[in-house]
Amino acid sequence: MVSKRDYYEVLGVAKTATDDELKKAFRKLARKYHPDVNRDNPQEAEAKFKEINEAYEVLSSPERRAQYDQYGHAAFDGAQGGGAGGFGGFGGSGGGFSDIFDMFFGGQGFGGRQNGPEKGSDLRYDMEISFEEAAFGKETEIQIPRTEDCKACHGSGAAPGTHPETCPECHGSGQVQFAQNTPFGRMMNVRSCDRCKGEGKIVKTPCKECHGRGKVRNKRKISIKIPGGVDNGSRLRVANEGESGLRGGPAGDLYIYIFVKAHKLFVRDGNEVICEVPISFVQASLGDEIEVPTLDGKVKLKIPEGTQSGTVLRLKDKGIPYLRGHGRGDQHVKVKVLTPQRLSEKQRELLREFAKVGGENINPEQKNFFKKVKDLFDV
Ligand SMILES: [Zn+2]
Ligand SMILES: [Zn+2]
Repeated sequence: MVSKRDYYEVLGVAKTATDDELKKAFRKLARKYHPDVNRDNPQEAEAKFKEINEAYEVLSSPERRAQYDQYGHAAFDGAQGGGAGGFGGFGGSGGGFSDIFDMFFGGQGFGGRQNGPEKGSDLRYDMEISFEEAAFGKETEIQIPRTEDCKACHGSGAAPGTHPETCPECHGSGQVQFAQNTPFGRMMNVRSCDRCKGEGKIVKTPCKECHGRGKVRNKRKISIKIPGGVDNGSRLRVANEGESGLRGGPAGDLYIYIFVKAHKLFVRDGNEVICEVPISFVQASLGDEIEVPTLDGKVKLKIPEGTQSGTVLRLKDKGIPYLRGHGRGDQHVKVKVLTPQRLSEKQRELLREFAKVGGENINPEQKNFFKKVKDLFDV
């Protein structure tokens, strides 16, 4: 077993310390090492904190203190793990201890949690934008209903010219300690102060604007710059535009969730834009130059002779700009060859003529297909 520090040493008191001295030393150390106020080094703080609690647990009970004075840590070793003794699992990091730890601080908060500065809540705002706005960005103003510090009293809740006073019940700590009998003996417990609701301060003359709350609901106008390249589901963080913080804490953040409306012609795939363009079978056969829509307006696109339906032609750098960085994706033009319908008699005539002339000139792909069909059935 790891050698344990002397309980008196842990609390920094003499062996002759009175109950009051023990309590004072414990409170001072517990505040200092509470995990909530030691966020930079939580593990070390928690270990220290447990050590302090354990020492106080034993020394605050006259019976256990007497045992400890006589036998030292050995007085409780027998109870380790077995749970049979009076202090089941108290020593070290035994299982029982975390329960005590939770009970001691269960939800009521202690030290920093109730009284320290607290960051305000984050807010969410859903914004619908067009396909083009997602591609090239947008600057806009939005109105966010949120809770802010009251301007009249600067968030104190006290009428201008007056100041909140320190709560006489808890002397500004926001919490009161009380003793509680538990299966493990008498426990010092902490709860939020009723008188000041854990604030540590009392407002005698409430501010008229906010009725002493220090906070008001406001609609705040915020200018937002949506960068080009955002997509459906993109989330933008606007720092410090959430709800205002508590007790001088920083404001929360505002998160803007982007929803992009569907486009009539374009479909997006990452930074690529896909667009289907119908052409006639004559254009597909002979080739042509057509105009296709892009995010930048119409551009000319060459259809090569003999283009098949479903062919994808690429328009370089006509896609969506990259969100972080330079350049853009491409636009992919998917060609859809239309079979003519509702032909005039003259057109039918010409097509029959066309077929007759091209009689022997069968497409290699077609030839290949018929060969496979033949192979399949002529076994
Ligand atoms: Zn006010
Ligand atoms: Zn109080």
